[in-house]
Amino acid sequence: MSKLLIFTAPSGAGKTTITRHLLEKFDFLAFSVSATTRDPRPHEEDGVHYYFLSKKEFKKKIKKDAFVEYEEVYEDQFYGTLKKEVKRLWKEEKHILFDIDVQGAKKIKKVYGDEALAVFINPPSEEVLIERLKNRKTEDEKSLKKRIKKARKELKYANKFDTILVNDVLDVALKEAEEMVLAFINKEPVEK
Ligand code: ADP
Ligand code: 5GP
Repeated sequence: MSKLLIFTAPSGAGKTTITRHLLEKFDFLAFSVSATTRDPRPHEEDGVHYYFLSKKEFKKKIKKDAFVEYEEVYEDQFYGTLKKEVKRLWKEEKHILFDIDVQGAKKIKKVYGDEALAVFINPPSEEVLIERLKNRKTEDEKSLKKRIKKARKELKYANKFDTILVNDVLDVALKEAEEMVLAFINKEPVEK
C-alpha cells in the first residue's frame, strides 16, 4: 500500500533540495507533480517540476473538482495537487512525495491521516532563510518580498506537523530525511 510523504516549509527552507535528494536516493519514491500558474524558472520542465497552467485552465480544473487541494499560495499564483496525479502514482505502487505549502500540507494530512507523514523543514533561523532565498536568485524584488512576508508567518506552524526536520548543515539534514522516510515506510536502509 502506498504511503504519502509530505515535505512542507516556508519558501527557501530547502524542500526542493531535500525532496530531489530523496527521489534520487530511493527508487520507491515518486514525486507528486503539482499544477501551478506561476511561470517556469530556467531549467524547469512542464510535467516534471510542475504542470504549468494558465489561470484560466487552473480555474477550469477547480470548477471540475480536479484537485485534492489547491491554494492561492501567493497573490494571483495558484498551486494545487491534482487527483489524477495521485491516482497515477498510486497505480505505479510507489510511495508519494509532496513538496507543498503549509496550508496544502495540512489538507493532504487531513485527507490521508496515518497513511501520510507530514514533515516541516525548519531553517536554523529566519535570517538564514532570507539569505538562502536571496542567494537562490530566482525571485525579483517584489516576489522576494512576498515570499519573506509569508515565510515569517509560516515559520510559526512548525509544531502543527508530525515531525520537524532542521535544515542547517545540508548533509546532516539529508541523512535525517532519509532515516525519516525509511522509518515511516518500514524499510531497511539501502545503499545506492
Ligand atoms: P524551497 O524549495 O523550500 O523553497 P530550496 O530547496 O530551493 O528551498 O532551497 C533554497 C536555497 O537554499 C537553494 O539555493 C538551496 O541550494 C539552498 N540550500 C538548501 N539547503 C541548504 C543548506 N542546508 N545550507 C545552505 N544552503 C541550502
Ligand atoms: P515555488 O514557486 O517556490 O516552486 O513554490 C512556492 C510554494 O508553493 C512552495 O511552498 C511549494 O511547496 C508550494 N507548492 C507547490 N506545489 C503545491 C501544491 O500542489 N499545493 C500547495 N498548496 N502548495 C504547493
